[in-house]
Amino acid sequence: MDFRLTDEQQLLRQTVREFAEAEIKPHVREWDDAQHFPAELIPKMAALGLMGVQFPEAYGGAGMSAIDYCLCIEELARVDPSVALSVAAHNGLGPAHIGMFGTDAQKERWLGRLASGELLGAWGLTEPGAGSDAAGTRTTAVRDGDGWVLNGTKTFITHGGSADVMVVMAVSDRSRGAKGISAFVVERGTPGFVTGRKEDKLGMRASETTEVRFEQCRVPADHLLGEPGQGFIQALQVLDAGRIGIAALSVGLAQGAFEAARDYALARRQFGRAIATFQAIQWKLADTATRIEAARLLTYRAAFLKDQGRRTTLESAMAKLYSSEIAVRAAEDSVQIHGGYGFVKDYPAEKFFRDVKLTTIGEGTSEIQRLVIARQLLA
Ligand SMILES: Cc1cc2nc3c(=O)[nH]c(=O)nc-3n(C[C@H](O)[C@H](O)[C@H](O)COP(=O)(O)OP(=O)(O)OC[C@H]3O[C@@H](n4cnc5c(N)ncnc54)[C@H](O)[C@@H]3O)c2cc1C
Repeated sequence: MDFRLTDEQQLLRQTVREFAEAEIKPHVREWDDAQHFPAELIPKMAALGLMGVQFPEAYGGAGMSAIDYCLCIEELARVDPSVALSVAAHNGLGPAHIGMFGTDAQKERWLGRLASGELLGAWGLTEPGAGSDAAGTRTTAVRDGDGWVLNGTKTFITHGGSADVMVVMAVSDRSRGAKGISAFVVERGTPGFVTGRKEDKLGMRASETTEVRFEQCRVPADHLLGEPGQGFIQALQVLDAGRIGIAALSVGLAQGAFEAARDYALARRQFGRAIATFQAIQWKLADTATRIEAARLLTYRAAFLKDQGRRTTLESAMAKLYSSEIAVRAAEDSVQIHGGYGFVKDYPAEKFFRDVKLTTIGEGTSEIQRLVIARQLLA
């Protein structure tokens, strides 16, 4: 067992950190206020390999490992969790689904352009009536000649308004329950692929979230991923990998909130001395730093197992559950250490506190992670 990062990994972390500090940090407040999705960042992130971190080099990706991916997401989230969320959704959901289950022709067609930033990806599982219970999908796909016709509504879709390529789960055989759900690639511009309203969110405001509707939307037969009926089981495997990304996002966010609190505690003086000299503040910082390290280890372990080609249902759920919940606590303690200045937008603590709540909800709530973990333990 070797807990050290390689020289290449340290360089990668440093490179993404410098990018986030230079290109993202100056705009965090403005993008959050305006709910602006910074699409202008995409070419710069693509140049660093961030739009196809784990896609194979043969398909134009950066061919990096799951641990490398965690380092990238952590460093983005340390500065702006909403940019990290968009990068994690692009890398870890729709395009990852194509990478995991697409044919060579499908990967050739989409992965390279997704990695280069020419195309942006999205993934449509959640519906107004089917969130945690994704097997309750209502969107339908009906076979029609040499294609499929999709009808239904997807909700809370990251990049629902900007994505060029979206992987959509739809029921192709109602009689087979979850085994009757199939996955399709739908391209922007296809008639009947309609962007609905953009959500006005508590946090993660620079990451675009919209409704998407399919109205008699016809997709060619070769846009089906795998066989009919495999979409739901594919989606669960996509989520096993995606949750490692949300765990890394949570670790990075917690790190950013911690550093803000530490720096503030060293600078802020009350009763004639820095508040960092009070034991009450020191214990909060010590507990937060310890929890972050534990979360990081759980996350890297899940990533390591993924890199070994192992199934990580249990480890991903544990990493996501623990990292997101300690991140909520880290963000809350950061606000508390900032006192009244934690409650206003001039300091970063307030935004971390709003952004962090998504981590216990997206890609499966904490309750669903506990359910997944318990099922694995009791199987
Ligand atoms: C910013 C953002 C981005 C998102 N991006 C995407 C995306 O790109 N693609 C996509 O498909 N989805 C996306 N989602 C959707 C997200 O995955 C869902 O919101 C999440 O899975 C929860 O579903 P729900 O909102 O319908 O809540 P519900 O499932 O209605 O849950 C409500 C509450 O009930 C609890 N609950 C439900 N079932 C159980 C149970 N069996 N046992 C115990 N408690 C239970 C939940 O834990 C939760 O506390 C996004 C969401 C947000 C907020």
